[in-house]
Amino acid sequence: MKFGFDIDDTLINLREHAFHIYNKRLKQNISLDDFHALKRVEIHEPFGLTDEEGKEMWNNTLEEIYYTNCPPFPDAVDTLNQLVNEGHEIYYITSRPKEHGERTKAWMKEQGFPVQDDHFFYGMQDDEKVNIIQELQLDYYFDDKPAVLNTLSNDAVKVIVKDQSYNRDISLTRLINWTDLQCILKS
Ligand SMILES: [Mg+2]
Repeated sequence: MKFGFDIDDTLINLREHAFHIYNKRLKQNISLDDFHALKRVEIHEPFGLTDEEGKEMWNNTLEEIYYTNCPPFPDAVDTLNQLVNEGHEIYYITSRPKEHGERTKAWMKEQGFPVQDDHFFYGMQDDEKVNIIQELQLDYYFDDKPAVLNTLSNDAVKVIVKDQSYNRDISLTRLINWTDLQCILKS
């Protein structure tokens, strides 16, 4: 079967990683409880930043957010490698900006994710992911972001939501831990 994955906050814990970077750079000590209570994807509000300031902070910090030691979610790397060992095809579809695509691909390989060069797509808008997902005729697609998930509900692909504080009102099959995948596939 063909499996497609978003990267940020689906396979790797990017926002929490960025939250730690914000605390450090802004010399604050905002608790992770505030992080886990966030009802939107953006993380700047607990730091008292406006949306505009938050966007600037994100863009100015992007290099550090993307290419330092952002941890994959527990068991994500092993789970994807297991899928490959079982003969499945793995695709990555990330809306990271085009200029970060190839470096992100290399970074994903370094983390141990099974990456085939021509199975890695980047630089599209959230609402353009659906086109790639349809063209690839994926069997399963995994994402965390409501703006993406809401474009996919009418398709043949089985969409799985990676559980996050800001997507709890989406009623699709939900994956909390990557070890739950085999169970979900059997259900
Ligand atoms: Mg994401």
